[in-house]
Amino acid sequence: MADPVSTPLEDARTRLKEATDLLGCDPGMYAILANASRELTVSIPLRRDDDSIEVLTGYRVQHNLARGPAKGGLRYSPHVHLDEVRALAMWMTWKCALLDVPYGGAKGGVTIDPRQYSQRELERVTRRYTSEIMPIIGPETDIPAPDVGTSEQTMAWMMDTYSMNKGYSIPAVVTGKPISIGGSLGRATSTSEGVVHIALAALRDNGIDPQKSTAAVQGFGKVGRGAAQFAFEAGLTVVAVSDEYGALYNVSGIDVAKLGEYVDETGSVVGFSGAEALDGHALLELEVDLLIPAAVEGVIHEQNAPNIKAKVIVEGANGPTTPSADAILEAKGCIVVPDILANAGGVIVSYFEWVQANQAYWWREDEVESRLEERMLGAWAKVHDYAKERKLSLRGAATTLAVQRVVEAHVIRGVYP
Ligand code: GLU
Repeated sequence: MADPVSTPLEDARTRLKEATDLLGCDPGMYAILANASRELTVSIPLRRDDDSIEVLTGYRVQHNLARGPAKGGLRYSPHVHLDEVRALAMWMTWKCALLDVPYGGAKGGVTIDPRQYSQRELERVTRRYTSEIMPIIGPETDIPAPDVGTSEQTMAWMMDTYSMNKGYSIPAVVTGKPISIGGSLGRATSTSEGVVHIALAALRDNGIDPQKSTAAVQGFGKVGRGAAQFAFEAGLTVVAVSDEYGALYNVSGIDVAKLGEYVDETGSVVGFSGAEALDGHALLELEVDLLIPAAVEGVIHEQNAPNIKAKVIVEGANGPTTPSADAILEAKGCIVVPDILANAGGVIVSYFEWVQANQAYWWREDEVESRLEERMLGAWAKVHDYAKERKLSLRGAATTLAVQRVVEAHVIRGVYP
């Protein structure tokens, strides 16, 4: 839950304001960046399997287009609402700018609990949503990707719907697609891999030996599962993991590979015999070297921040820490690596996928992986050095560097007309 007094959009704007103040931007530039460039709300009539009709609501928000086509995921969750999509779209703008991929930021969402619907129903929702947002998406305008509650299959339906309407196959309209229709090798694991590249760098640069470190990972989905797996393979002791149904703890370490097999069979981490049950909230407050929140926004807030004992937090999720929690953690000396850097591996390989699809020439997995690592570590070094030089938190440094790039693009392009 977010702090009672702040929403994700307010949090995003607070951080933008700090950056624009630091850069000495005028209020007009802040106003341009605080608001989305384009927003579309659509109605999605769905014929359910029992033949009844239900009407869902969907959104696509393009926050900023100054540096290139809009880019960002599509979220299916009962919590989706316009302000949340606006915040997530703004974070995509900063993420793409920070990693220097030539995109602006966007996000989409449908207010739906996907677990309550059959695959056939989800296909109809996705195809109708895609048709409704077709006027504003395309390989040169806005390129969706998976996010919470959506998958490779969702992207395949989107790509097919878009392509059928155009009359030919257009793989570059979405990223995070299955390999068989133009997806990139290494995309599925890219966010998690990037999180762990950054986590290892952050531990080492702060004098903590990863081989002697303990880690807790909140979330066992697209980001958390891979992050736990890669951390385990890198030699960290993963003492705790959780999903939305419960959490696990084992002081001598969880065998993440075995846990993965268990989750494939049962659909949840709950009941795994290689660890004890733990309260989900307690996971965030464990005494560990590394904490990876890899679920949703606002989980580290004013109330639990004082109890957090992790030395390093690497944000796998978007917006997991509220600004008031940030201040508490900073005062305690806890190092927080912000989302726009830590989880950027996904959009980096999305960019590689789009480049490959546009050229109809696909790279080897090791090429994708080494280019991903190079970009992540390059961005880490830049943010780390800038934070030191300007005496900023890592989040302050990352946001300021990103905002600076977007501001530069606006200034050189000028205000139209
Ligand atoms: N949904 C992911 C994110 O938040 C990936 C976005 C993309 O690849 O476009 O970064």
